[in-house]
Amino acid sequence: VFLAARFYSDQKRVAQFTGEKKSNGLYTVSMIEGDGIGPEISQSVKDIFAAADTPIEWEPIDVSPILVDGKTTIPSSAIDSIKKNKVALKGPLATPIGKGHVSLNLTLRRTFNLFANLRPCRSIAGYKTPYDNVDTVLIRENTEGEYSGIEHVVVDGVVQSIKLITKDASERVLRFAFEHAQAIGRDKVTVVHKATIMKMSDGLFLSIARKVAKDFPNINFNSELLDNTCLKMVTDPTPYNDQVLVMPNLYGDILSDMCAGLIGGLGLTPSGNIGDESSIFEAVHGSAPDIAGKSLANPTALLLSSMMMLRHMGLTAHADNIEGAIFATLAEGKALTGDLGGKAKTYEYAQAIIDKL
Ligand code: NAD
Repeated sequence: VFLAARFYSDQKRVAQFTGEKKSNGLYTVSMIEGDGIGPEISQSVKDIFAAADTPIEWEPIDVSPILVDGKTTIPSSAIDSIKKNKVALKGPLATPIGKGHVSLNLTLRRTFNLFANLRPCRSIAGYKTPYDNVDTVLIRENTEGEYSGIEHVVVDGVVQSIKLITKDASERVLRFAFEHAQAIGRDKVTVVHKATIMKMSDGLFLSIARKVAKDFPNINFNSELLDNTCLKMVTDPTPYNDQVLVMPNLYGDILSDMCAGLIGGLGLTPSGNIGDESSIFEAVHGSAPDIAGKSLANPTALLLSSMMMLRHMGLTAHADNIEGAIFATLAEGKALTGDLGGKAKTYEYAQAIIDKL
């Protein structure tokens, strides 16, 4: 439990938080409850924060998509809320497949220029998985790459999706990765890529990484092919425990889910979408429509995301307190949700955490 309690506590502030404490001593945080299991897991966070006297008041916002000049966007009230509060906690948002509005997740990342997606993934003490010593920190470029959203039909039966890599966005996320490695005391940054095949796009990302690395002489720079990383990671994840991995958008999306699988699944992995002005914290998983509305969801990933958020805001002692209760509950194993082999409802698991505060 002691080890577990430290899991996320070495995460330093990853970008400057400039939100203001109000005269009542509280910070306001925008809350997007999200779709599917979103409202259930958000409720757990709210209940636990209230029980722990966390100095946060929630500002619920609606991000239902609207069309402006033919482009998908979110209501201006939601944009204003996140701009004002500088920080948001977000439940999962469902994305239509193939057609319909552009992904709201992408819209949020682009609207607030959330250029780095930070995804720590650590084994949970007391919860048995094939490996009990995973401790990866993965940073995914969050604004372009394979998710540029530029797609078109060339001729009937032939389509193109553009993978966009720019010097500026690459340099920004790579610099963040080196700075984050320094902040959390890791001395190695590995760039994961496929520059052997995508010589121009991944080639540019890699060449900028080499350049940025020169500004961080105390950090060892390494590069690795994505397929090789996948193979090594599932064979033995421990060599990655002393480093920070950074990569283009799609690779980070997939590799982080694979890491989640190593520690017990998507119900356990948090993330932060970091920008210079605002940051949005969310679970790695989606809206889980197959279990929505049944109180079967595991809220741990959103809870751990909210711990990253508290630390980002400088509320470290509050994060330590809640995190200790989360990991003690998981290690005890009496009130686990179904994805972890237990029988507890979402709210019963949340109550077990509250009982340990
Ligand atoms: P998913 O992550 O929603 O679900 C995958 C599997 O994991 C399902 O079996 C689900 O029941 C399980 N699962 C996920 N979270 C869980 C939790 N907290 N507790 C217990 N089990 C959990 O992935 P999907 O089914 O591919 O996507 C569903 C929707 O979510 C899609 O519309 C997708 O676009 C969207 N999505 C959104 C985000 C986001 O908002 N950031 C991320 C991924 C997917």
